[in-house]
Amino acid sequence: MAERIIIIGSGPAGLTASIYTARANLKPLLFEGFIEGGIPGGQLMITSEVENFPGFPEGIMGPQLMANMREQAEKHGTRIVTEDVTNVNLSVYPFEVVSMSNETMTAEALIIASGATAKRLPLESEKKYWGRGVSACAVCDGALPVFRNRELAVIGGGDTAIEEAVHLTQFASKVYLIHRRDELRASKVMQKRVMEHSKIEILWNKVVDEFIGDGKQLGGLKLKDTVTGSLSELSVVGCFEAIGHLPNTGFLKGQLETTELGYIKTVPGSTQCSIPGVFIAGDVQDSKYRQAITAAGSGCMAAIEAERWLSEKD
Ligand SMILES: Cc1cc2nc3c(=O)[nH]c(=O)nc-3n(C[C@H](O)[C@H](O)[C@H](O)COP(=O)(O)OP(=O)(O)OC[C@H]3O[C@@H](n4cnc5c(N)ncnc54)[C@H](O)[C@@H]3O)c2cc1C
Repeated sequence: MAERIIIIGSGPAGLTASIYTARANLKPLLFEGFIEGGIPGGQLMITSEVENFPGFPEGIMGPQLMANMREQAEKHGTRIVTEDVTNVNLSVYPFEVVSMSNETMTAEALIIASGATAKRLPLESEKKYWGRGVSACAVCDGALPVFRNRELAVIGGGDTAIEEAVHLTQFASKVYLIHRRDELRASKVMQKRVMEHSKIEILWNKVVDEFIGDGKQLGGLKLKDTVTGSLSELSVVGCFEAIGHLPNTGFLKGQLETTELGYIKTVPGSTQCSIPGVFIAGDVQDSKYRQAITAAGSGCMAAIEAERWLSEKD
């Protein structure tokens, strides 16, 4: 017998969708992932303090927030499978979902909440200072006390990098924008914004060669000039990588329409995609906000839309 609903992903979007669908008595089955697209629990598992998720005035550690959501999902009856989905077939109905153990499940409705993965620089020293000054999200981490009134850096040259740099100027004494080329990819409006900003200095033709510090906290960056090859040091206590995100859509094998950047397309204002009965929530469809609360919000929307779609079909 087909499942009423299968949810793919255990970040804030997938777990919120599972809490709502479980409470609507749809007995959701949730694939929480294993390796693909990060670890079960999603992106908040690799961060420390989350200060902007409502309900936690003192802040909460990312892994603890996700453990709470998982517990709440299970308490309401979500069945959780710790496996990656490797394949889906959306051209048949009920939809087919194949997982790592090669088992094929079928579902009357699907919620895809497989998130996105922030691209990171492939340096050993980056791993060492990850969460100790190195982050991939200025909106999330920029306001932490350790970064206040200090010099910070953003890596990247697109709109996101500029947004992050401008955002950081509220807290930092100065922000360096490190870009590997001699011109920005960002839109003209954004370029103007950054170039005219008194607190932002652009370091052209530079890449990070090494993250340096005392082992506990980032203290600076070793930069390499992409034209001359010369090395220099920059003293910063925070560095935000804004070099893009990869939506986790490999298992879909092109069955759903995506944007140029690979995000799944949804009907504006809803979580519906090009196939009725398939609903998309969280960062896998959101290149704009990419926050835990917006992911959770769209997980709720997907659950309500799926529930209504199923009851109309019935
Ligand atoms: C370093 C960092 C710090 C952050 N800090 C904050 C913060 O302080 N506040 C804030 O609001 N936001 C923060 N964010 C952003 C926030 O984490 C994301 O917006 C949010 O997690 C997105 O939720 P999601 O459910 O859409 O996806 P994700 O959290 O990306 O979860 C995706 C889930 O899908 C699963 N998955 C992927 N592929 C498969 C598959 N094939 N089969 C089964 N499962 C699969 C993964 O295992 C994972 O469980 C931060 C992000 C990063 C990277």
